[in-house]
Amino acid sequence: MTMRIKKLILHRLQMPLKEPFKNSLTTTTHKDFTLVELIDESGLRGFGETVAFRSPWYTEETSDSTRLMIEKHLCPIVKEQPYEHPSEFGKRIRDVRRNNMAKAAVEGALWDLYAKKENVPLYKLIGGVRSQVRAGVSIGMQDSISTVLEEIEQALLAGYERVKLKIKPGNDIALIEAVRNDYPDLALMVDANSAYTIDDIEHLKQLDKYNLLMIEQPLGTDDFVDHAKLQQQIETPICLDESIHTLSDVKTAITLGSCQIINMKLGRVGGFTEAVRIHDYCRENGIPLWGGGMLEAGVGRLQSLALATLDNFKFPADTAASDRYFKRDILRQPVEVDNGFIHLSESAGIGHDIDREALRLYRVEKKVLT
Ligand code: MG
Repeated sequence: MTMRIKKLILHRLQMPLKEPFKNSLTTTTHKDFTLVELIDESGLRGFGETVAFRSPWYTEETSDSTRLMIEKHLCPIVKEQPYEHPSEFGKRIRDVRRNNMAKAAVEGALWDLYAKKENVPLYKLIGGVRSQVRAGVSIGMQDSISTVLEEIEQALLAGYERVKLKIKPGNDIALIEAVRNDYPDLALMVDANSAYTIDDIEHLKQLDKYNLLMIEQPLGTDDFVDHAKLQQQIETPICLDESIHTLSDVKTAITLGSCQIINMKLGRVGGFTEAVRIHDYCRENGIPLWGGGMLEAGVGRLQSLALATLDNFKFPADTAASDRYFKRDILRQPVEVDNGFIHLSESAGIGHDIDREALRLYRVEKKVLT
């Protein structure tokens, strides 16, 4: 079905987090992002959101760079020609290097719009095989181990099935030891956000006795070779997150043996088309996936959940309920966790309506491009 984009609206939103979220590199207090709204000639609307953070600690992209990239470079392209399918967007923006989170926000809006046009849920359109996703939580760094233990207790009471701890040198072994003492059978993993180097191999070997599901991104974002060396020395599976931007990165990682698991994030790989290609390649090569979170607001949250319904997603996602991070989400029906699962809507597209009042509440800038 042909899709012609008539109008784009860029909403810049600033949503305060209920509590600051801290990892080895930064503390996030607000989610500052762009909600992309595409409107076609029949008046249908598709939504996507940028997931980049305010500073470039995670990847090189930021809230500001994604907004600029969308406005100056992607918006003019998105309206140029009609679409038979949203995957055509990737071919049209081949000359825009990297900037994957900016691309994913626009591409995500195209997919949502297309799914609404076809009157199918987005997750089914991309090939999802389940209508529910097991939910896990990521617990940011806290001032004390006892606070982490309290957070875990609350997460388990709320029904979450898997816990991820943020670690760094000096905030790792004692923390994991304490958690394992209290929760010997908990599905537990850790994420270092590149806090270690190859010189820490002996130190990281200590993790092997704690039966962790994985250690995520222990080394630098482009250290494929060093991750491979580390994986040869430790039993805990390495999961790559920040390193993976393209299918080509995945091929490098698998060829070198840099990881056993990949954390796939829609924004980081530039949208659904590339994400599905990576998913299929990983499935063929025996590398399971799971989906981490980017402190997304509602639209990004629903799109990450749609991706996590593909069959090679094997671990509970980091995509928690809306109310874990925000007092009020931008959806009329917020994302909720029910007995450890998030159920996806069977309505067309992302399946939830935008809460326009919340949009006005958080909006600091609005640009209409026709
Ligand atoms: Mg991570």
